[in-house]
Amino acid sequence: MRQKLAAGNWKMNGTSATLPELKALADTYGTAGVDVLICPPAALLHRAAEVIDGSAVAVGGQDCHADGAGAHTGDTSAEMLKDAGASSVIVGHSERRTDHNESDAAVCAKAETAMATGLTAIVCLGESLQQRDAGETLEVIGSQLAGSVPEQSTGDSLVIAYEPIWAIGTGKVPTLEQIGEVHGFLRAQLVARFGNEVGAAVRLLYGGSVKPSNATEIFAVEDVDGALVGGASLKATDFAPIIAALE
Ligand code: 13P
Repeated sequence: MRQKLAAGNWKMNGTSATLPELKALADTYGTAGVDVLICPPAALLHRAAEVIDGSAVAVGGQDCHADGAGAHTGDTSAEMLKDAGASSVIVGHSERRTDHNESDAAVCAKAETAMATGLTAIVCLGESLQQRDAGETLEVIGSQLAGSVPEQSTGDSLVIAYEPIWAIGTGKVPTLEQIGEVHGFLRAQLVARFGNEVGAAVRLLYGGSVKPSNATEIFAVEDVDGALVGGASLKATDFAPIIAALE
């Protein structure tokens, strides 16, 4: 059985004034049978780790550099994230693929470094609306999966987040059939590449306009093992019911 995972991506939102939201989650969900992860901005990670210390809530990064250290002004290494208290790191989010021209190969290199550092890599992939309308969704997803996921991935070190670009922050959500089709495809691709054991152990998250109002039906779709949540992870009162929908 795969442990469910509710992951929050605060993106470029949050200051020290937002930490009480994290404290509220940590106080409430310390013993829930669901893994809860919040990925705050890097500047807040260390303080966030102090806030969740002793609870079952974990914190993670939103990106890392592929290199271990060195002359990369403004970047954050996987080791730094781990040192600040992270257990996981998101790589290849569509906003980074767009804003920073990250290729599948670049995302794969980041995921490799994250895994080698002992972090779980949450590899994001998803099609644009144009690609979906052109009937290219599975082709795009398959190619991103092949190019962005490291060979040495294991059930513990890899999480995949399917985030259709057109569903992020828009209030639009694919139909349950569309989510099920992509998640079933991802599962089959993982089994084909990594074998039954690893393929069955990797958790598949859905992301894109997940809210308390739609979480229950999305989580009932086969091979949806949780969610990667943006806007609705910023407030404990929004995120808590999403976590509860996974229990
Ligand atoms: P929203 O939940 O705000 O649509 O964002 C999804 C996302 O991009 C999470 O990484």
